[in-house]
Amino acid sequence: MPLMSVAEALQRVLADARALAPETVALDATLGRVLTEDLNALRTQPPAAVSAMDGYAVRAADVAQAPVSLALIGEVAAGHPFDGEVKAGQAARIFTGGVMPAGADTVIIQELTARDGDKVTIQKATAKGRNVRDRGIDFTQGQPLLRKGRRLTDRDLMLAAAMNYPTLSVHRRPKVAVLGTGDELVAPGGTPAPSEIVYSNGFALVAMARSEGAEVSDFGIAPDRVADIAAAVRRARDWGADILLTSGGASVGEHDLVQRALASEGLDLSFWRVALRPGRPMMHGQLGGMQVLGVPGNPVSSYVCAFLFLVPLIRRLAGRDDVERVPQPARLGCDLPANDERANYMRATLSEGPDGPVATPPPAQDSSLMAPLAKADCLLIRASHAPAAAAGSPCIILKLGL
Ligand code: AMP
Ligand code: MG
Repeated sequence: MPLMSVAEALQRVLADARALAPETVALDATLGRVLTEDLNALRTQPPAAVSAMDGYAVRAADVAQAPVSLALIGEVAAGHPFDGEVKAGQAARIFTGGVMPAGADTVIIQELTARDGDKVTIQKATAKGRNVRDRGIDFTQGQPLLRKGRRLTDRDLMLAAAMNYPTLSVHRRPKVAVLGTGDELVAPGGTPAPSEIVYSNGFALVAMARSEGAEVSDFGIAPDRVADIAAAVRRARDWGADILLTSGGASVGEHDLVQRALASEGLDLSFWRVALRPGRPMMHGQLGGMQVLGVPGNPVSSYVCAFLFLVPLIRRLAGRDDVERVPQPARLGCDLPANDERANYMRATLSEGPDGPVATPPPAQDSSLMAPLAKADCLLIRASHAPAAAAGSPCIILKLGL
């Protein structure tokens, strides 16, 4: 059976994935979340004409012939309106954000005035309406300013607050359970025996899921025993995981028990082999309400699989429409041989060349090598059966984040 292409595998992962239900969230916790309804302004901004400057509120007709002396009848500051009316020959002291008093239509900036007790001399004529922010120049009540499906930016939070929303309705964040497997794995910080390996890939997987906005719970390391793995799978299900991400034990070796454990818990398997390097034994299925992604244990494989499949799944469940990674053009920094059937996501560094970015993969591409992965700026995509390519020829890359 030919291996499944990366594109088809991704399609299957996303096939049954729908945006999660809405929940009401305090505005300050909604950054990056996706709105489930249109937001119409609950008020008009500004709610009244206000001064844009510190100065004097006047009637433009009075100052058409400057210099002119006006009688001061009061003071207006932001939050402190003035009830009186500015009549002919009068002015009111005003500060930025102060509501324009009745009768006044223009603000003269204080630099163009001279104060003398309860009189002020306006030294220069100003156009009518100058330095006044009219009522509703930003937005008016009822105006739809943020639409359903919008992924909220920091500026959107500012706007929503100004529209008078203390909370917003957004899609729930996906809950992601991360589970490592392997008898050889130990947490970092101890004194590992030569036969032990430090559990490392979960740190990237958890961080990646968190930076995509998921609520992540680390279920630690299960030993290579079906009963232990199954128990951890049940814990993840009881926690209410939307996604269970397992790593390790994903191929058909004697100790590759993840699939068996998942099957014993009722996994509905959708696929488990992809034409991908690194990451062929990648697996996907459904278990109760959980989408299960089983990625290989080799750190680079686990990272590439999560980058290609977990991230789009999280984004889809979070209600985003920009779920897929967008490849960018670059040029090869070295010659590369023809590729085989498996699409190759090579770790590469980027530099700036005369025709744009140049991607150079180091020769060391083994799926266990974390040092070149950390040093890489991008994944250089070699399509299935791509012919040999010379340095300088066009290629496509996926930039790595942070
Ligand atoms: P597996 O997929 O379980 O056959 O593991 C493949 C290789 O990846 C083995 O050399 C494991 O020791 C290693 N490995 C598996 N899980 C992890 C992990 N969480 N962190 C680091 N290395 C791992
Ligand atoms: Mg293992």
